[in-house]
Amino acid sequence: MQCMTTSIANVCLTLITGPSGVGKGTLVKKLLEKHPQIWLSVSATTRLPREGEIDGKDYFFLKPDRFNQLLLDGGFLESAQFAGNSYGTPRKPVETQLKKGIPVLLEIELEGARQVRKNFPKAFQIFVAPPSFNELERRIRGRATDDEKAIQSRLSRAKQELLAQNEFDAVVINDDLNSALVELEQLMTLKNV
Ligand code: ADP
Ligand code: 5GP
Repeated sequence: MQCMTTSIANVCLTLITGPSGVGKGTLVKKLLEKHPQIWLSVSATTRLPREGEIDGKDYFFLKPDRFNQLLLDGGFLESAQFAGNSYGTPRKPVETQLKKGIPVLLEIELEGARQVRKNFPKAFQIFVAPPSFNELERRIRGRATDDEKAIQSRLSRAKQELLAQNEFDAVVINDDLNSALVELEQLMTLKNV
């Protein structure tokens, strides 16, 4: 992944999207372990932290008032509502990294991905898809982090999101985790070290 230009709208901005539970977080974590030169944006959300999640590392967990104020102040590169909560990418840190020529990765849902596409047409956009809808449901339930209402909301959103995969530059099917990781590395032209 070459990031030699200082232009903000260059190919060094990669976004990964795909339905909740497909394994985006798992894939991204493995990708960053192998390629620490990539900078992952930490999103803000109004959702409550899950067990083990750390404020400032997994997300910036904000009260709705604070999130809305930041939104009004233009503090987000993109933002969206998802399963009853707000999510957004803080603008400043992303712009700072891109100006330095550091490759930036965003892991966001579909509506936010569409906003990024509009504002950064050269961003490389990857959609992660499950091998089947049943397997997606199994993963969401297996993660055991959401109550039934949230699971239903995520599954219904997933149906819509899966219909949009053709909008993306590439689709990675996360069946076998390691194969999906290698595919991601190849797409992002990262050397497999
Ligand atoms: P997302 O970030 O897309 O919401 P997660 O990374 O939290 O999804 O993964 C959801 C669940 O699926 C987790 O329990 C994770 O361990 C599991 N998982 C991820 N990738 C795979 C895979 N290739 N095969 C089986 N289970 C997976
Ligand atoms: P979760 O609550 O499972 O952590 O995230 C729910 C969904 O929100 C996931 O699809 C995740 O990719 C997405 N998401 C996380 N951060 C952001 C963000 O900053 N912007 C947008 N649009 N989506 C986000």
